[in-house]
Amino acid sequence: MPNLNQWKNSKSGLLQACLAYRSFVISVLSFVWQLEDPPPDLLKSEVHVLRCLVPGPGNWISKKDLFHLADGLGFPASFPSIVTSALAAKLRVLRFDITDAISRAIELRTLLASSTCDPLFEPWYRQAHVFVSHQAQEQALNARVTARTIAAALSHLRTQTELRKSFQKEATIQLLIKGPDSYDVEFGLRCRFCRWQLQLSPRIAAVRSISLFRRLAKLVKPRVWAAVLRTHLNGWCTQRRFQQIGVCIFQCSPTARDCIEHYCFCDCFKHLHLQFLRTRPPSSMQEFLMLDHPSWDDDRLILNAVAVFALYIAFNWARLNAPDQEHILSEYLKRSCYHAVLGHARSQRALQCALDSWLPR
Ligand SMILES: [Zn+2]
Repeated sequence: MPNLNQWKNSKSGLLQACLAYRSFVISVLSFVWQLEDPPPDLLKSEVHVLRCLVPGPGNWISKKDLFHLADGLGFPASFPSIVTSALAAKLRVLRFDITDAISRAIELRTLLASSTCDPLFEPWYRQAHVFVSHQAQEQALNARVTARTIAAALSHLRTQTELRKSFQKEATIQLLIKGPDSYDVEFGLRCRFCRWQLQLSPRIAAVRSISLFRRLAKLVKPRVWAAVLRTHLNGWCTQRRFQQIGVCIFQCSPTARDCIEHYCFCDCFKHLHLQFLRTRPPSSMQEFLMLDHPSWDDDRLILNAVAVFALYIAFNWARLNAPDQEHILSEYLKRSCYHAVLGHARSQRALQCALDSWLPR
């Protein structure tokens, strides 16, 4: 837990948190759960750990959203699920390492049924790795994932070594789709979109949102992608998010409210679009969320995503620093745009093009 608190305060981005969780938590535990089930306490703390790694207002993102970031939304990586990872590890062990585990489980069960077992040792027998493996195989079978379905998906691999290397990864993919952590990403987004006042129906908005994230994953840095996701899922720590009333953190007007619905029309955001990025500021919430992206070219999409990222970063900075001069905020927004494209050739090119242009897009 103390290590977790360190991670919590490290302010790493979504991708960094995901990679750290995979490397330092899941890979270590996966040695143990090749032969054992994850203890109930670990499963109970999973949500808490994920919330520490991906902080934000309550339930802004669910654990199933985090498990399906890659396959559902095109992010470079997903947070692994403990249950699915443990199942996939056992399927690999059953296929390559302890191939006689199922027959040994049947033998042991027959033996236990036919002889009197010391009550002291019975729980110990029941937790034998052959029983645990057998149970895992049954669970995977219920999800219609077997060694055969996994091998079929990997039929292009020629050697046993290659198959062994990719087996667990493919098992995880299939279990995520059909197993205990399966999730309809579109339905999840549809429920969230009910809260925004959009011209599009929540169903169409969810479909557009999924295609937006898949497109953005190829055009911008993961940090920009993550800021857009947080915006779509209402994950900003605004006063409205906590059912309170507050004024715009950038103090553009005493009547402007501290909520995403205002920030998309806030003067500082309009100024960033018109004066710096030379793009048209969004005229509706739908445009701010980039749900009209199918009719946009890649450069326009990149610049809009960079603007949302800069606004979100400036919002967090202003919450802590309360800037009282407009030019300081404006400078911070511009620097955040440069930060958004740093080390990313495609988005850097789009920003440079916009800065060199004198005409608004
Ligand atoms: Zn404002």
